[in-house]
Amino acid sequence: MSERPADAGSGPAVAAGMPASPLVPGLYLVGTPIGNLEDITLRALRVLQSATHILAEDTRHTRRLLDRHGIVTPMISCHKFNERAREEEILRRIRTGEALALVTDAGMPGISDPGARAAAAVRAAGLFVTVIPGPCALSAAVALCGQTESRGFLFEGFLDHKTAARRRRLQELAAFPAPIVFYESTHRILKLLDEVEAELGPERRLFIARELTKKFEETVTGTPAELRAHYQTRSLKGEFVVILLPRQPPRAPPGSPIL
Ligand code: SAM
Repeated sequence: MSERPADAGSGPAVAAGMPASPLVPGLYLVGTPIGNLEDITLRALRVLQSATHILAEDTRHTRRLLDRHGIVTPMISCHKFNERAREEEILRRIRTGEALALVTDAGMPGISDPGARAAAAVRAAGLFVTVIPGPCALSAAVALCGQTESRGFLFEGFLDHKTAARRRRLQELAAFPAPIVFYESTHRILKLLDEVEAELGPERRLFIARELTKKFEETVTGTPAELRAHYQTRSLKGEFVVILLPRQPPRAPPGSPIL
């Protein structure tokens, strides 16, 4: 049986500046741009406009998006340090009839970001929770990389900050037979290249996507040494998705039979 979405609206999609449409009480996880403010769906705008409150990871950051689209819905801060403490309040507000939109600074809530805990709590309480899918650095990089179709991929997210734990994890992942996607900060991207070279060997190749959807979007593929050389002449600023490509099968020496 297919159900009509709780926020189906009454006709064509409503863009910013149009009247808000009533939403069923519940939690709405809303995807927001990962750089380019035009990457926002009509449904996301309508839900942000119609919600009673927006739970935002950083209210100042989200204010820029809302201002751009003329949305004045009041915000409540909800980030990784207070998401747990907010749970009771979220449940109470929904029980009293509120429709709460939850957004993070960029991309999809719950993907290396707040939102998963709140979604689980709302669902466990038997209340309504839904998603308004939007941009995500993971899916954008995977699509651009173009090397994930045959065996899927593993999403690892951020490695630990501690060197020993990072290296141990890379060793564990060394033989994984499909691409592995990491999020990495600008401060640790060169460190990651050194670690991959040391733990997985100098031939291992990586695909790096920087500043996706932004003015200086850039993708590059190579071994750690090639990538280090690349970044000696290019900016290392911005946000990075790193895709570790699987180990290549050893090449047969020339003239040897193909088995
Ligand atoms: N929830 C977000 C999503 O759906 O992609 C991810 C949030 S996580 C805290 C932030 C990390 O995502 C960054 O450190 C970077 O690795 C990656 N990221 C976010 N925006 C990006 C962009 N425009 N280009 C490349 N990577 C990006």
